Amino acid sequence: MIRMEIGSASVIGQVRTGNEDSVLVADGLAAVADGMGGHRAGEVASADAVDALSEVEGSRSLDDLVRTVHWANRRISERAAADPELRGMGTTVCVVGLVRRDDQDHLAVLNVGDSRVYMLSEGRLRQLSEDHSLVESLIRDGQITAEDALTHPQRNVLTRALGVEPVVAVDAWLLQPLVGDRLMLCSDGLTNEIYDDRIAEVLADRDAPEVAAQRLVAEADAAGGRDNTSVVVIDVVESDADPAPLEDRFHRVTTPSVDLSEEGEGPHTERVMAVITTGGSDTAASSSTPEQPEPMTGDEDIAELAMAQDREDLAVAQAEAVAAGELAARWRTVAFVVAILGVIGLAVGAILFTAGRGWYVHEGPDGSVALFRGTPVLWIDPAIVEESDVSLDELSPADRAKIQRGRSFLEESSAREFMASVQPTTTTTTTTTTTTTTTTTTTTTTTPPPPTAAPPATAAPPGQ
Ligand code: MG
Repeated sequence: MIRMEIGSASVIGQVRTGNEDSVLVADGLAAVADGMGGHRAGEVASADAVDALSEVEGSRSLDDLVRTVHWANRRISERAAADPELRGMGTTVCVVGLVRRDDQDHLAVLNVGDSRVYMLSEGRLRQLSEDHSLVESLIRDGQITAEDALTHPQRNVLTRALGVEPVVAVDAWLLQPLVGDRLMLCSDGLTNEIYDDRIAEVLADRDAPEVAAQRLVAEADAAGGRDNTSVVVIDVVESDADPAPLEDRFHRVTTPSVDLSEEGEGPHTERVMAVITTGGSDTAASSSTPEQPEPMTGDEDIAELAMAQDREDLAVAQAEAVAAGELAARWRTVAFVVAILGVIGLAVGAILFTAGRGWYVHEGPDGSVALFRGTPVLWIDPAIVEESDVSLDELSPADRAKIQRGRSFLEESSAREFMASVQPTTTTTTTTTTTTTTTTTTTTTTTPPPPTAAPPATAAPPGQ
């Protein structure tokens, strides 16, 4: 026979505009849920969790409690997927409930997330639940200390929460409490503001449960109140249990479990993995690969981490979370460089394409009219194909100017036609010579000149 007295308190705090924590105090049952999500979605999620639990008040069945947490998880994740306003919502939940097992009373302790269950027993405060948070896993791996965790920038990142995935792992323990044991459930608003030593002092003062709870939330509020803070204090006032060290009366429960092998589950099989077993279809749906949650806003970290923990090694999730910031920054840099290189590449490509096309007529290296392959672009000169015998010096000033400016052609034939059209003035000179000859003839008729008396061809202007 176990009898408890329970008191609770909850405050919004100094910063938040609403209270997303939900608290349940019922017959032989208490819970704290800390909701998260945009707008008021966190309130909805945490309320869903405690509402579900309130329905099994008095059942005294551990399986009922565990099933109910799973049921709440599914309900929250389905609501989050169905309603855009609630997308991304989730909640922690920690529960202490009176259960009957093997003809004995026990207190069941359940947890998902980073709300906590503590116990003050024989003057010592101990945390009974294990946090499903990033910092907790970093502490376990020896990467940071518990003290570091208090100020760690990612201390709010959860590795498990209700509502994030269709299936969630629920941690469960059974406790045989002694008369005088005092349990406390709290949201992280308390533990982020007050050290455990101070919590222990307040609990040890032995005020009535409700008074103790009110003192604790008031102290968290006064210390900064950066989050909603909720506390439930439970005094064990009657118990049949024989005095024994805590280690002998507090055990993790690994049942009921569910086969998640289809999801590659392996390293976490020691965890309680119960699912709703209200019907065959539920079981089938739960053990098959669950559909991916809708894309979320705001709590992506939580969603990703929770999924990662359920499906992969937690170490991978940790590493990803820690590196996520740096990685994102690195990728942004890489993306920027790639974009710049892309633009440069396109420009160079366009230049090379243009430069490699067509034909070009210009003055060659020897001062003659020359044919080039390609088009001069920026620093790229076209390649010479052939240099004609026609020197620029032999051209008329107009033609010389054309060649010196250079002219581009798409077709080689057009370029060659152009080359042919610029001819040295000698051809014109020949014509002139003929004319001159005629003149000379006339002259000859009039006055016989010496044969060499004809004026030089250059004397005649071209184009006559
Ligand atoms: Mg909180």
